[in-house]
Amino acid sequence: MERKKNFFAGPSVLPVEVLEQMRDQMVEYNNQGISMVEASHRGGLFEDMYDECVALFKELLNVPEEYELYFLGGGATLQFAMIPMNFLRPNTVADYIKSGTWANKAAEDAELFGKVNYYYDGTANKFSSLPKASEVHPSANSSYLYLCSNETIGGIEWQDFPDTGDVPLIGDMSSDILSRPVPVEKFSMIYGGVQKNLGPAGATFIIMKKSLLEKQNPKLPAYMDYSKHSKEKGLYNTPPVFSIWGVKLVLDWIKKNGGAVGMQKRATEKSAILYDLIDSSSFFRSPVDPAYRSKMNIVFRLPNEDLEKQFVTEATKQGMLGLKGHRSVGGLRASVYNALPKEDVLYLAQFMKEFERKNG
Ligand code: PMP
Repeated sequence: MERKKNFFAGPSVLPVEVLEQMRDQMVEYNNQGISMVEASHRGGLFEDMYDECVALFKELLNVPEEYELYFLGGGATLQFAMIPMNFLRPNTVADYIKSGTWANKAAEDAELFGKVNYYYDGTANKFSSLPKASEVHPSANSSYLYLCSNETIGGIEWQDFPDTGDVPLIGDMSSDILSRPVPVEKFSMIYGGVQKNLGPAGATFIIMKKSLLEKQNPKLPAYMDYSKHSKEKGLYNTPPVFSIWGVKLVLDWIKKNGGAVGMQKRATEKSAILYDLIDSSSFFRSPVDPAYRSKMNIVFRLPNEDLEKQFVTEATKQGMLGLKGHRSVGGLRASVYNALPKEDVLYLAQFMKEFERKNG
C-alpha cells in the first residue's frame, strides 16, 4: 500500500508501526485467547495495559506526584462544560483567554454556568496572536484562568505559560500534547482529545492536581463529577477501550523516539521547513503573528481563493490529504502532528515550490 501523506487536523496520522501492532493484535492480544477490545475493563488484561498507559503518559510529560491522570469519553468538548460545572464557583468569575475557535467555544459553555471574564479577546486581530504570558494575571476573584495551548484552526500556540499564583490554570492541550515538554506544575488541569498526537479518537485525557477537587461545586450528575472519576482512576464507567489501547502504543512509540524532547525537535524541524518556505516567498503568506506560530498546525494563504482551491485539488491528486483550511476560516492548513514523517513535509514543500513556479 502506498500511504497517503496525511495533513488532517484530527483524527490524523498515526505511526504506521502502531497501526500494524493493532492489526496484529486485533484478534488476539499477547497470546491471551481474547482481544483487548473484547476484554472487561474490570479485568487484568485491560487494567494492566491501562496502568502502564497512565504511568508512561506521566513519565513522558513529567507529571508531578500530586497530579492524577485518567481518560474520559465525550471528547474535549465535554470538558468545555464539565470545567465550569465543577470549578466556576458562585460569586466568582472565570477568566478566559479568547484566542480562537476552541477557547471561545469553551468560554461559551462557561457562560451558561456563571460569570466569565474575557481576560483577552483576539477578535480584533482575527485570532492571529496571543497575549504575552508574563503579562497575564487573573482577576482577584477568579475561580480559574482558562487557555487553549494551541488553537488548531487559527494556527497559534502559546510558547510560554502564565504564572497564575493561587488561581488554578486550566489548559486545553488537545492539539499539541506531547509535542514538547510542558511545565505541568504551572497548571491545575490539562486535558485534551487524544485524536491528534496520541491515538485513535475516543478518549480524552485528564491531568489534574488532586487539590483542585477541594474547590469543586457540590451536587453534580455522576458523569460530570470529576471526584467520581478520580475515585475510580477514570474507570467509574466503561472507558473508550480501543482508543486507550492505541494511546498506550503511541506513547511507546513516542518514548522510543526521544520522548517530549524528541517530539519537540521533530516539530521544530518540520514546521520550520514550511514557515521558511512561506516567509521566503511573496506567493505564500502566513496570517499568524510570528511570535505565536503553531508548530502543529501551519496555516497559510495564497493570493486568492481560486488558487487555494486549485492547490488543494492538485495536492490531493498527488496523495496529500487534509490541506484545506477549516471551513470557518478558509485558506490552507498543514497539520504536522508527531507521527507525520519529515519526508511528507519535504514532499509538501517541494509541491508548494512547484505550485508557485507554475502559478506565481
Ligand atoms: N480543543 C481543540 C484545541 C481542538 O482542536 C478540538 C478539536 N479539533 C477540540 C477541542 C474539540 O475536540 P473533540 O472533537 O474531541 O470534542
